[in-house]
Amino acid sequence: GAKTEGKNTWQRYQDQMHEAMLRRLEMRSALNEAVAGGQMRLRFQPIVDLPTGEVAGLEALVRWQHPARGLLGPNEFIELSEENGSVVAIGGWVLREALRTFAEWRHTEFGSHMRYVSVNVSARQFRTPGFVDEVRSVLADTGARAEWLLLEVTESLVLHDADQVWRDLGELRAMGVRIAIDDFGTGYSSLSYLSQMPVDVLKIDKSFIDDILDSRQQMALVETIVNLARTLELSVVAEGIELDGHRAALKAMGCSYGQGYLFSKPITSDEFQDYLRSRHSAVSL
Ligand code: C2E
Ligand code: MG
Ligand code: MG
Ligand code: MG
Repeated sequence: GAKTEGKNTWQRYQDQMHEAMLRRLEMRSALNEAVAGGQMRLRFQPIVDLPTGEVAGLEALVRWQHPARGLLGPNEFIELSEENGSVVAIGGWVLREALRTFAEWRHTEFGSHMRYVSVNVSARQFRTPGFVDEVRSVLADTGARAEWLLLEVTESLVLHDADQVWRDLGELRAMGVRIAIDDFGTGYSSLSYLSQMPVDVLKIDKSFIDDILDSRQQMALVETIVNLARTLELSVVAEGIELDGHRAALKAMGCSYGQGYLFSKPITSDEFQDYLRSRHSAVSL
């Protein structure tokens, strides 16, 4: 009857909760072994100079080759890794691997014109004492120039606990490293704050780009951000460009850089080199 059914539903719900909890626990401990176990991977997504259409650089995006669950995207493990602290080791690995790879590509015929590699840094990783020194030694070890590195941080990192974070941002910028605010517009930056922030680049979040072709208001909003960046002498990257109409509109409003599936999804190192090569031959034909 209804009573047994209710009980079964409750039992099923409990089982599912239990399973989800076990899964999180298992993921947490597996994450601690993942870097040492060689399970982290990078994918690379080109960032295009909108006025010329050339590949200006790329963003390195982490993946986890989980022994049982296959290739996982960062949305499935970065938050957990922030919680248990493994994000510090993961982020360190990403930084070194991204700079090593970029330095290698810079010395090839098709990669030599690229200007920068973008690396995401989580708040916890950035706040870990010694982060600036780590960046310095990774640059030295990989032979990468500080000017090649763009660190993507969140709006909230720059807004909160300002003192030490701002000193570290200043020290990185003094070395020549540039700083981007990732997913710009989704946080709470105030205009007065923005003009003082120790940053160089704004990355406009995909959610703002999605609707620009359907909504004049949304188009005007993005144009306002682009103009704001110009006033503040910041560079702008538009994220999530999926349509040629997006690209054309952003180019027309003076946005410097674009990134999105229109150009390429995040791809492996081999695929990225093919991508550079094929674009090179397309231009010279
Ligand atoms: P993000 O830094 O904003 O990176 C852009 C995300 O949007 C990437 O997802 C990328 O694949 C996706 N994307 C790019 N263009 C398009 C598009 O045209 N359409 C759609 N639908 N999506 C697009 P991904 O690789 O899953 O990364 C998600 C987030 O995980 C990143 O967002 C970043 O916040 C974080 N993340 C990635 N790698 C790292 C890392 O090494 N360290 C840390 N701390 N976080 C990372
Ligand atoms: Mg990013
Ligand atoms: Mg982003
Ligand atoms: Mg984003």
